[in-house]
Amino acid sequence: MTRAKKQARAVAAGFIVFHAACLLAFYTGVSTAAIVVAIVMYLIRGLGVTAGFHRYFAHKAFRTSRPFQFVLAFAGSLATQGGLLWWVSHHRDHHRYTESDRDMHSPRAHGLWHAHMGWMMTPECFSTSGANVKDLHKYPELKALQRHYVWIVLGQAAFLFVLGAVLNMLWPQLGTSGLQMLVWGYFISTVVLWHSTFMVNSVCHRWGRSPYDARDDSTNNWLVVIMALGEGWHNNHHKFAGSARHGLKWWQFDLTWIVLRGLEKLGVVSDLKVPRPAQIAATAAAGAPASQ
Ligand SMILES: [Zn+2]
Ligand SMILES: [Zn+2]
Repeated sequence: MTRAKKQARAVAAGFIVFHAACLLAFYTGVSTAAIVVAIVMYLIRGLGVTAGFHRYFAHKAFRTSRPFQFVLAFAGSLATQGGLLWWVSHHRDHHRYTESDRDMHSPRAHGLWHAHMGWMMTPECFSTSGANVKDLHKYPELKALQRHYVWIVLGQAAFLFVLGAVLNMLWPQLGTSGLQMLVWGYFISTVVLWHSTFMVNSVCHRWGRSPYDARDDSTNNWLVVIMALGEGWHNNHHKFAGSARHGLKWWQFDLTWIVLRGLEKLGVVSDLKVPRPAQIAATAAAGAPASQ
């Protein structure tokens, strides 16, 4: 069996195990501490994907220091959605070949299930050359994150188990345990974040509104906006792919953008790219009716 085939099978097994592990919550029960940790892990890792993997690494929508670049890459890696270089390579292909056969997660080309999760269980998705992420190769620390990705993920799971066990030892009144923290803080948090991210590829190319003519099926969808921390303004994103801000209007809530603006004020990130209002207006006038 080829390496790519083995990787595809490992991912399929992983998907089954992770979803099944969520059911352990019926055995472990729940506590406020476990819920808080699950939400914190969701936000840190979600922002690692949206601000880091997506807007920074895939689209270069802002600038930051090399240490904070590493922080973004590390937080995104913890999301257990594949290593940085692999993730970015596929995403750049998605924009380059949108809705064609070469777009691995296009619902139009391959169907909704394939777009949502199926594509990650095919050997093809592990056979990419990585030629479109050469710009990231000059950072040895990023290549190391890709290489040691599995250990980072396993280390995170072990950390959460130990955290729950220690909390239980020091403050038994919290009602948590190692296994409970692992189930909520890692498995449930990860699986919900998975589907939120995957919905950008599936739901946001099938259901919602398309105020801009991006010459593809991309849509804006409120459910995905909330779940994926602002990434649901996906039609906006396909039209203005280089923008650090996806919710382009004042009422288009974009948590990732709010966080990036906060980090800009703190001097952690800079040069946040956004389209000029005249550019947006001209595009809306030239494209489909601006119904949203
Ligand atoms: Zn898309
Ligand atoms: Zn993108």
